Amino acid sequence: MNVPLLDLAAQFHSVESEVRAAIERVLQSRIYILGPEAEALERELAAICGARFGVGVSNGSDAILTSLMALGVGPGDEVIVPTFTFFATAGCVARAGARPVFVDILPETFNIDPDAVAAAVTPRTRAVIPVHLYGQCADMPRIRAIADRHHLAVVEDACQAVGATFDGRGLAHWGHCATLSFYPTKNLSAIGEAGMVLTNDEQLAEKLRCIRNHGQGRQYEHHLIGGNFRIAAIQAAALRAKLPKLEEWNAARRRRAARYDRVLAGSAVTPPPADPRCVHVYHQYTIRCDRRDALRARLTEAGIGSGIYYPLPLHLQPCFAHLGGRAGMCPVAERACAEVLSLPVFPELSEFQIDHVCETILDFVGS
Ligand SMILES: *Cc1c(COP(=O)(O)O)cnc(C)c1O
Repeated sequence: MNVPLLDLAAQFHSVESEVRAAIERVLQSRIYILGPEAEALERELAAICGARFGVGVSNGSDAILTSLMALGVGPGDEVIVPTFTFFATAGCVARAGARPVFVDILPETFNIDPDAVAAAVTPRTRAVIPVHLYGQCADMPRIRAIADRHHLAVVEDACQAVGATFDGRGLAHWGHCATLSFYPTKNLSAIGEAGMVLTNDEQLAEKLRCIRNHGQGRQYEHHLIGGNFRIAAIQAAALRAKLPKLEEWNAARRRRAARYDRVLAGSAVTPPPADPRCVHVYHQYTIRCDRRDALRARLTEAGIGSGIYYPLPLHLQPCFAHLGGRAGMCPVAERACAEVLSLPVFPELSEFQIDHVCETILDFVGS
C-alpha cells in the first residue's frame, strides 16, 4: 500500500467541475486581476475565519510583508519571531528592512514561547509575529497582553491555520491582522500562488488594499510606496469553488489526527499534544521520535510519505548568520528540528492507510 504525504489528485477530483466552472467564469469576464471574484472571496473567507475584512494578495509571504508595511515596520525596527517556522515568517521582516529577533518555542505546541517574547522586547521592538504552526494557534491572549504592554503590533502568521480558532475567537481577533497562504499544499489551496490578510480594523484594511496596489489611490496617484501584491482573479475564483468544502476538510483532518492519537498513544513516539483552547486544523500531524531519521527511512521503504518541518531553525540559517545566532540559543526548537516528523493527514486519507502508517511506526519503535 502506498501512502503519499499529500494527494492533490484526490482533492481535485472532488471539486473538479466547480473549479473548471470558476476558471471559465474568469476567462469570460476578462477581469484577470482583483475584481469581483477577489472581492467575493475576501468577504466569504473573512466571514468563515471570523474576521471583518479580507485583503487578497499574491501569496502568503507577501501577506506578511504587506502587513508589516501597513503597520509601519521598517529600518531600525526589531520584530520578534519564533525560530521554528517556515522561512517566510522572518524573511519578510528582513524584506521590510527590519531585524528579525528569533525566540524559542514551547515543547508541547511547537508555538512561540510567550515568556521568551517578553524577554526579547527592547526599545526598538515594533512587532511580534506568532505563527500558528501546523494549524494550531499560539497562546494569543498572553501574546496580545505582552504586546499591549509594550505597544507592539501583532501579525498572526496563520498561513497553516485557515479556519482555526482560539477560545472560540477567529483569526485576527487577538492580532492586529492575520495572514493566510493558499499555496497548493495548504489546507485551502489555490491553483497557483495566492494569499490574504485578515483584519478587524477598517483603517488597516484600507491601508493594506492601498499597499498591495503600489500605494495607489486614484489612478496614477501614489500615496504610499507599496508593491504589486495583488491576487489574481483566477486564483480567487478557484478558491471560492473550494470554500464550501473547507470546514468539512478541516474536520476530516481532525478525525484523522484523532485516529493517529488513539493508536500511537503510549508508544515510543510522541503524538502532538493539542491545546484544548484551540480548534486545530491539522495542516500537519507531527510526531516526535528520538530516532527520527531511521524511522523516516523505514516509512519511505514502506511507501509512506512523511515530511520534516523544519530541519534547521531560522537563527541558524546561513542568510541570518550576521544576526549572531548560535547553536544552543533556542534549545527547544533545536531539539524539535532533530525529532519532528509529519505524517500524512490529508482529508481523503483512508482509515486503512492510517492504520498501515501506524503499524509501520509501531513495528519500528517496538511496541
Ligand atoms: C506557507 C507559509 C508561508 C508562506 O506562504 P506562501 O504562500 O508560500 O508565500 C508563510 N508562513 C508559514 C508558516 C507558511 O507555512
